[in-house]
Amino acid sequence: MELNEKNNILDLSSFRMITGVKSKDNKLILEINKNYECEVEIPYNVDIEDDKIIINEHPLKVENIKRGILNLISLSISQNLVNKITNRRTYYIAPPIPLIGHTAFGLIDRGTNIIQVRGLSGCNINCPFCSVDEGKHSKTRKNDYYVDVDYLVEEYKKIVEFKGNKFIEAHLDGQGEPTLYYPLADLVQNLSEINKEGKGIVSMQSNGVGLTYKMIDELEEAGLHRINLSINALDEKMAKILAGRKDYNIEKILDIAEYIKNSKIHLLIAPILLPNVNDEEVKKVIDYAIELDQRIPQNVINPITNKKDPILGVQLCLIYQFGRRVKKMKIWEFKKFYKLLKDYEAQYGAKGIDVKLKLHPSDFGTHRRKKLPCPFKVGEVVNVDVVMDGRIKGEVIGVAKNRIVQIINCKNEHKLIGNNIRVKILRTKDNIIVSTPV
Ligand code: SF4
Repeated sequence: MELNEKNNILDLSSFRMITGVKSKDNKLILEINKNYECEVEIPYNVDIEDDKIIINEHPLKVENIKRGILNLISLSISQNLVNKITNRRTYYIAPPIPLIGHTAFGLIDRGTNIIQVRGLSGCNINCPFCSVDEGKHSKTRKNDYYVDVDYLVEEYKKIVEFKGNKFIEAHLDGQGEPTLYYPLADLVQNLSEINKEGKGIVSMQSNGVGLTYKMIDELEEAGLHRINLSINALDEKMAKILAGRKDYNIEKILDIAEYIKNSKIHLLIAPILLPNVNDEEVKKVIDYAIELDQRIPQNVINPITNKKDPILGVQLCLIYQFGRRVKKMKIWEFKKFYKLLKDYEAQYGAKGIDVKLKLHPSDFGTHRRKKLPCPFKVGEVVNVDVVMDGRIKGEVIGVAKNRIVQIINCKNEHKLIGNNIRVKILRTKDNIIVSTPV
C-alpha cells in the first residue's frame, strides 16, 4: 500500500482492494475485494468516519501514524483475512509466492494452448457431487487463497510469452466459483488484451449464482469470449438438491442464461450427468439449450477455430479422492456416456436438429503447445521453504525453484510454517507439485 494523503485524513476509499469499511470504536472492519473481511485495531488517537480515518495527533506525527495504520492493515490482510462466503481463513497471494504448482490457486499449464487461471478458491454453493468438496459446508477444505490481480496478470503474461502468443485461451476455473473474484472485469480485460494480440480468447466457468446483468455487461465490455454455465436440472427441487442450497433459484439462472445469449459472450450450457440421479433432467437441460439456441441464435466466432463454439458441453460426473459423492449415483465408463450422447445426437438428427454433444478438444481449438519445464523429478529429495498452511488437513504449502510445492502427510502443520524442510517429490505432472516430508 502506498501513502498518498497529505493532511490528517487517511482516505481508505483510495485503495482499490478496500471495498467497504465499518468501524466499532477504534476497530476497523475492512471488506477486502468484496468477499473477504479483516479486523484492525488502531492504537492511535483517531476518529473513524465512514471510510476516512481522522488522525488527532500533532501534525508532525501524522505521516508516521498513517504509515503505521497502513502497515497494520497490510499485516491484518496477510494474517487475518477471512472468506465471508466459506468462513475460511484466506491467504492473500502476492509476490514472492510463485503461482505455479498448486491446483487451488494460480496458473496451470497442461501443455496445450489453454492456460487455467485460478484467482481464488471457495464456492458460493455446495453441490453434493463437488469434486473438490467446496462450499461453506466442506469437511476437508480448511483454507482459501486469493491471488492479487496485478500479480496474476503479470505471471500470466510470462507464460503466454513462453508459449508463444498465438491462439491462447485463458480459462477462468478452479476449486471454487470464478465470479466471486473481484475485480473480475479488470482481470478479464487484462487477460483479453494480452490474448487478442495473438487471436486468443478468455473463457470462464460459472455456476451462475453470482452473475448479474451488470456483471455480464462488464464482462462483455472486458472482452470475455465464453461462459460455460452449469445447469444440472430444470426441476426446481432437483436443481436445489444438486446445488446444495435451498435458496438456489433455477429461474434466475435461466434468466441469466437468456441475458448472456443476448450479449456478445458465447453461452455454453454445461450440465453434469450423475447417472441414476439426474438422467431425465440432463435430457431436459439439453432440450432447453437447443430451444434457447434456436430462439436466440448467437454469432460469436471463436478466433481460434473461426467457428462458433458449441451450445452444449455435457459432462460425466466422476469420483475423486477428496470430492463429495451422491450415494445413489452409478459410476459409468466414458464409453457408456459417449454412447448416450451419440444416441441423443441421432434422436435430434431424426427431428432435423443438428446438435453436437460428443465434443472433441478441436471443437474449441484446443491443441498441444510448448509446456513450461518442470524443475523437479519424481523421487527427488529437495529442500523447501514452508510458507503457509495447506488446503486440506495434513497439508502445508512450500516454495522451491519458483514453484509452489504441496507437502502432504504432515503432522502439526502449524509448527512447520516458517521452516525449511526436506521433502520427497511424489508428483510433477503438469507442474502440479506434490511431495511428502522425509
Ligand atoms: S459449483 Fe463447482 S466448485 Fe462449487 S460446489 Fe458446485 S461443483 Fe463444487
